[in-house]
Amino acid sequence: MRSPVLKINEIFHSIQGESTKAGLPCVFVRLTYCNIRCVYCDTEYAFYEGVDRSIDDIVDEVKSFNCKLVEITGGEPLVQENVHNLIKELCDLGYEVLIETGGSLPIENIDKRVKVIMDLKTPYSRMEKKNRYENIQHLKSTDEVKFVIGSRKDYEWVKDIILTYDLLNKVEQVLLSPVFDKVENIQLAEWILQDKLNVRFQLQMHKYIWHPETRGV
Ligand code: SF4
Repeated sequence: MRSPVLKINEIFHSIQGESTKAGLPCVFVRLTYCNIRCVYCDTEYAFYEGVDRSIDDIVDEVKSFNCKLVEITGGEPLVQENVHNLIKELCDLGYEVLIETGGSLPIENIDKRVKVIMDLKTPYSRMEKKNRYENIQHLKSTDEVKFVIGSRKDYEWVKDIILTYDLLNKVEQVLLSPVFDKVENIQLAEWILQDKLNVRFQLQMHKYIWHPETRGV
């Protein structure tokens, strides 16, 4: 029987640039489509570009990299229902699977063996209204929540959300990233330290290793 199909934008082997796995070699499976439009999006090419591929074919390519860490990303990977077939297949094969989601679609059906890295969209993104706050109750202690900060107003908003949902006690890590050109790295670092906020400051490491516009890294 032919395995289910997913529209895939790209599959590549790189250095994980974000999260608690930053710095580790990782295979990225980027799925096509996204249901929202953040102002700072750097993967617009994933909105429509892609090729239909069977899950068997995708898994064969993942195997070729000899790397046990795999991130499923997008676009928004939860738009395509068959993503759950891919996740199951990879987990059953013993891969450590991460999924990066924008936080606007339900996460409760994601296989519990997967580390979910979920965005909560800040006001600067203009997609704050798309946050599905019901998702927070389904986050596991091994999951991570990510905020991308474009202004001091965003930072204040993030502190409020962290407190309201007790995120620091709920997930393994809360990640704060500055929007390139909008908030200086040093500025965000100093805000975090002044407030003694126990979050992880992160930069997109891959954008420092390769040119920021390089695709497939
Ligand atoms: S959720 Fe991600 S892929 Fe979709 S628009 Fe926002 S940044 Fe881009």
